[in-house]
Amino acid sequence: MLRAGLMRQLTGGVYAYLPMMVRALHKAERIIREEMNAIGGQEFLLPALNPESLWVQTGRRNIPNFILSVKERDLVLAPTHEEVIGWLGAMHIQSYKDLPQIWYQIQTKFRNEPRPRSGVLRGRQFTMKDSYTLDRTWEDLDTGYDLHAEAYRKIFSRCGLKFFVVGASSGAMGGTGSQEFMVESEHGEDTVAKCPACDYAANLEIATSGLSAVGRATDHGAPEKIDTPNVKTIDELAAFLNVPHERLAKSRIYLHDSKPVLILTVGNDQVNETKLGAALGGGEYRAASPEDLRATTGADAGSIGPIGFKGRIIADLRLKNANGLISGANVNDLHLRNIDLTRDVPKLEYADVRSVENGEPCPSCGQALRVTNAIELGHIFKLGTKYSEALNIRYLDESGQSQLVIMGSYGIGLERILACAIEQGHDENGIVWPAALAPFDVHVVAVNMNNSDIVLHAHQTYRQLQQAGLTVLLDDRSSVSPGFKFKDADLLGMPVQVIVGEKGLKNGQLELKVRKRGERSMVPVDGVVAGVQDLLKSL
Ligand code: ATP
Ligand code: MG
Repeated sequence: MLRAGLMRQLTGGVYAYLPMMVRALHKAERIIREEMNAIGGQEFLLPALNPESLWVQTGRRNIPNFILSVKERDLVLAPTHEEVIGWLGAMHIQSYKDLPQIWYQIQTKFRNEPRPRSGVLRGRQFTMKDSYTLDRTWEDLDTGYDLHAEAYRKIFSRCGLKFFVVGASSGAMGGTGSQEFMVESEHGEDTVAKCPACDYAANLEIATSGLSAVGRATDHGAPEKIDTPNVKTIDELAAFLNVPHERLAKSRIYLHDSKPVLILTVGNDQVNETKLGAALGGGEYRAASPEDLRATTGADAGSIGPIGFKGRIIADLRLKNANGLISGANVNDLHLRNIDLTRDVPKLEYADVRSVENGEPCPSCGQALRVTNAIELGHIFKLGTKYSEALNIRYLDESGQSQLVIMGSYGIGLERILACAIEQGHDENGIVWPAALAPFDVHVVAVNMNNSDIVLHAHQTYRQLQQAGLTVLLDDRSSVSPGFKFKDADLLGMPVQVIVGEKGLKNGQLELKVRKRGERSMVPVDGVVAGVQDLLKSL
């Protein structure tokens, strides 16, 4: 995108968009507007500057890495717009007759991203189509949500993207259900589990697998100590004791609002921090440091365990009611065996906290799941009444009773649409735009501006194509060699190129090239419009 002159970085995560990029953004916007209007959306334009107090009211002022603020005036730069929509909703929704509503906008958002990366995929300033549904009933919310899901499919299909939909976590938004629209890519910062056989697909933040629980083994009585000198990892412990990983319960300590919590998982299972956040039930949390570990348990990582631990303990669901387990004894180089979670660990909580791994069985059909990276293009949420409660968005029902409005929220990243289209379409020579997003339909290359015949035909072709309703880029630079012009045409990636050169003109012909397939053909000068139109139709 930099090489093709689409954008320039001003500072970390902040980009200037150059004319080619703006044209492509406008095309994406147009597709989005058409599909949003088609489901009954009404377009708004809400302020990016918000009073800080509005965000305090919904409890979102201090979400980590979320809000950028303008300290001098107690203003914040909005990262999303539930708050402002809520403020408008409270003002304008009076009775059930005012519902349902779909309100949307296409607007600049700001986020305090700690690690802006991969160009415009993760900016601190970016463009979002965000929409909000306001409804009376949960069924109506489902209707608005389904309308969005269908509109999103149409939008991304029209943009020429290969995408898939996954079940997702509701995260900082809060809510009752959500899905993400994903593009598979090694550059994606999301990880998803996808079943190759059925339609199961989920963000790793909520994905589950059909992996069996550990269950119960023969009971060998009370826990007993075993010396495990210099045994640190689960693999070393399994080898040292000659037991399967399944019987090893690994303990990790997290600090949740400064209080230690012990998380128990099976063997080498990894903790998914989003699932953990949900299990903890909100608040701030982080993995304990080695110093924290020693201070809270008296032992180092590798020798920590649930027996005698003072504080909250959460075990992964695979450990539900398990016994015959081995875990650390909270003394270095010492473990305990015969641990029975039902007998030995009072007030134990269970939650799904583990990350699904590649190859585990699909929870719906049992086939091996594939875990891959993906870029999130869009996200749809059932918000429920969280914001209506905080901002008092109410309506009077048929019987005159005051009721909370039920909300949904739906986002699409505009820059991500373009970046994903480029990611999926490019080759070693540069961008291959899908026709729907290309800044121009046709790129006319005047091979040599010192040849008056070429100049004449290049300008004539440019005008004719424009008159036919196409958008045309004309390379009439006089100081650039033909080779450079061809390279630039490929780099910029318009779907069709028209090459106006000496050899062709000798026979009264122009050359057409399809960027995507590389195929070339000759057309008579007066057949160029029809030729280009045919090629565009074939894409
Ligand atoms: P991510 O998990 O990638 O941070 P998010 O869950 O925070 O995304 P939402 O709050 O759902 O994103 O925002 C809606 C859409 O806005 C996303 O689906 C994505 O396309 C886009 N988006 C979010 N954050 C950024 C960003 N920092 N830069 C560019 N686009 C973004
Ligand atoms: Mg985010």
